[in-house]
Amino acid sequence: MPRGSIGAEIARRLFLSANVLVRIALLCFFALLLSQFFVAAVRAAEPVRAVRIWPSQDYTRVTLESRQPIRHSLLVVKNPERIVLDLQDVEYASIQQQIADKVLASDPYVANLRAGRYLPGVVRLVLDLKQEVKPQIFMLKPVGEYGNRLVLDLYPLEPIDPLMALLDKVPPEAPPAPASAEAKSEPAATLSPGPATEPPKSASSGMPRPEVTRLVTIALDAGHGGEDPGALGRGGSREKHVTLTIARKLKTIIDAEPNMRAVLTRDGDYYLALRTRVEKARRVKADLFVSIHADAFVRPHARGSSVFALSERGATSAAARWLAKRENAADLIGGVNLDVKDRHLAQTLLDLSQTATIQDSIKLARAVLNEIGGVNSLHKDDVEQAGFAILKAPDIPSILVETAFISNPEEEQKLNDDAYQDRMAHAMFRGIKRYFARNPPLSRSTLATLQ
Ligand SMILES: [Zn+2]
Repeated sequence: MPRGSIGAEIARRLFLSANVLVRIALLCFFALLLSQFFVAAVRAAEPVRAVRIWPSQDYTRVTLESRQPIRHSLLVVKNPERIVLDLQDVEYASIQQQIADKVLASDPYVANLRAGRYLPGVVRLVLDLKQEVKPQIFMLKPVGEYGNRLVLDLYPLEPIDPLMALLDKVPPEAPPAPASAEAKSEPAATLSPGPATEPPKSASSGMPRPEVTRLVTIALDAGHGGEDPGALGRGGSREKHVTLTIARKLKTIIDAEPNMRAVLTRDGDYYLALRTRVEKARRVKADLFVSIHADAFVRPHARGSSVFALSERGATSAAARWLAKRENAADLIGGVNLDVKDRHLAQTLLDLSQTATIQDSIKLARAVLNEIGGVNSLHKDDVEQAGFAILKAPDIPSILVETAFISNPEEEQKLNDDAYQDRMAHAMFRGIKRYFARNPPLSRSTLATLQ
């Protein structure tokens, strides 16, 4: 082979191998690019772990739970009324699977829920509505067992007024004459836009005040609800169901009394912010507030019932402080929209009247504790105090009753037992009656002059 051709051959081979190297490099580059696209695509399709719907008269809540926060946009569409929720980068199949058969026929606001692929990477969720609503949408960070939650609340245009709802239920002829006159005139005076010009009745008459001169209203608050199951029993019971069952039983007993009526803060499986529960009680001018719960502890042998009142500063024990902290966390788990300005905040702050209210709360708590001591063993012999948010109505004596330990298998059984629930409700009722016997409710006009 001539020298020149050898040189040319080497050059040719070098060129070829360089060419191959470039090709390999390019191939690697594209492979990398492709894999990046693939990873991005996989990351993008975030599966929705759960869709939960909590219907109620107050509002209906739709919750979408996922590992990563969901980017979203909301659109209100008319004729017919519906809400369109566009969800970025979520897995279509998971939504489709999760929304199946979730809407109840009894839902006051949502008629149907459907999903479709709208744009690449966007799943469109459509809520067909039964009436026009005011939607609120917000995100909740992971807490407890939950991942990221996207929450859509659908409120009626006219908020449900607990006072009007209460009046709707009171049959006009049922209560005895003085009570019924009071029940009818009071709310009318409250609701009328004009100035309240009720003359003080008891002030002018020198007659001694009868023990119960009017219809007294007891607000009953079934702890937890909806997204917040409360404490869980080993047998699968949830505190939120037990509390509602007992609250309903107590309401029936109270409503059977001629001069008493009960109002439930929630009458269904949905969450209400702690401050909303207090607000409802104040709106109906409740004379007492009773929040019903079931306790839990890491050790299964912890047992017994207990009753708590608010403390202005400091808790009476480390256990009471721990419990108040746990109960106050309900708002985090149940889910509260923090974007909404709280116009009632000023009213629920502690004020001067709180000290007197707490003294009455302790009296009520002792009366109830004495009675339930005959139904179940007591966890503590005396009333304890701590900073429970649910007990902060400044003008309503308020107690929190831990009916038993749901984390104790034996007490969990009791809490699910119809007869035990009845006995517990009757004991609480006797405690309330005993309290009123010693501390008769003031007439409304006297209250008005005190305020
Ligand atoms: Zn609780």
